[in-house]
Amino acid sequence: MKIEFLGASGGEVTGSNYLVTLDDTNQILVDFGMFQGRPEIEKHNFEPLSFNPSTLQAVFLTHAHLDHCGRLPLLVFGGFKGKIYMTKPTASLVQIILEDAARIAEKDRDKSPLYTTDEVWKTIKMIEIVSYDHPILLKSLKAEFKDAGHILGSSSIKITDNESKKSIIFSGDLGNSPQSIVKPTDYFDNADAVVMESTYGDSSHPKENPAKIIQEEINEIENKPGTLLIPAFALERTQEILHIINHLKKDKKVHPDTKVFLDSPMGIDATTVYLDFKDFYNEELQSHIEIPFNFEGAIVTSESKDSKNILHEPDPKVIIAGSGMMSGGRILRHATTFLPRSSTRILFVGYQSEETIGRKILEGAKNVRIEKQSVTVRAHIREIKALSSHADQPKLITWLEHIATAKKVYLTHGELPQQHALQKKISKAGLEIFLPKMSEVFEI
Ligand SMILES: [Zn+2]
Ligand SMILES: [Zn+2]
Repeated sequence: MKIEFLGASGGEVTGSNYLVTLDDTNQILVDFGMFQGRPEIEKHNFEPLSFNPSTLQAVFLTHAHLDHCGRLPLLVFGGFKGKIYMTKPTASLVQIILEDAARIAEKDRDKSPLYTTDEVWKTIKMIEIVSYDHPILLKSLKAEFKDAGHILGSSSIKITDNESKKSIIFSGDLGNSPQSIVKPTDYFDNADAVVMESTYGDSSHPKENPAKIIQEEINEIENKPGTLLIPAFALERTQEILHIINHLKKDKKVHPDTKVFLDSPMGIDATTVYLDFKDFYNEELQSHIEIPFNFEGAIVTSESKDSKNILHEPDPKVIIAGSGMMSGGRILRHATTFLPRSSTRILFVGYQSEETIGRKILEGAKNVRIEKQSVTVRAHIREIKALSSHADQPKLITWLEHIATAKKVYLTHGELPQQHALQKKISKAGLEIFLPKMSEVFEI
């Protein structure tokens, strides 16, 4: 069994893509994600593929984040004839994510789109649904999915060659269990080799109480009327914030009249998908009799005109809008209006990558450029670090320790300092640890 590292390798965090070869007639892909970030990273999306999609047996997808699924429509051009295997919630979320990616690309006049909505539709037709712990067989290959506890429907995937008896586990993105919505990460217990993510390979997440911070922020704008802006990712984070506010309202820790606007078309669509998959919720979320993402004062604004009217709503009010790093979306219009007001508070609830507007505000910029406009920042700024949906170093190590038979570990999906720190921490006798570079091939 051979594995080729075609993305999220060599210190890169995006573009997850691995090619597994059992023999000349049995080749599969795990993940086919978009490269995201600096232009020199994103240009990889447009490079010719190093494999022939028409001879691939199958594609296995760990989860619906764009950096894992974003290049799947390229299979359509390459004449792929197999199936793309994923869990049911992943299939629903992938549709939202890929359609959004195609729409944004089609609007960009500076370059031709990587693919169009039409190709997204052809891709969706190739999806085959898989359940956790129900292995699928394709010739000598066996694939098993387990809950990775990262976002709804997320999986770790084990591939076994029944002929050579070799096996390899792909962690996918591992969750930060216990999380507010999904079940805890499930463990595999044996394999010859492991491909493991290392996003937070060097650190432990801080111990914070996100609900308490959100309560404090809402109480602040209730006591001294203002607007609280929460830039949030559409998948998982938006639903986590809504669920937390649901509890705060029920426990009367925030005022029932305080309006909370969900002003994100993609966040609204994703929340609808979340409502369809109660079986995938953790125990606490399943115990809700009412809809856990709704509460008194919650207002959903799908239409652009309703979104614009939020401006005229009296304070106090909370606005949850995308994008999570303020690199686009409706949050930008609200930021232009509200950031110059000292009564505004802005709460960051997710990672802000370099050079994004979110990162600049978080680092204390007094002025930011938003859509060619200079905007003064007088708002109060706060951050929650503990709401990560990625395992930290201790959790990554615990997950790996469950795979007692592993002889080789390949670290991917992390920057080099994180990978080196994790490599040091997990080094033990008999275990080989590799930091694969792009296009590197290994025999398992
Ligand atoms: Zn992810
Ligand atoms: Zn709850």
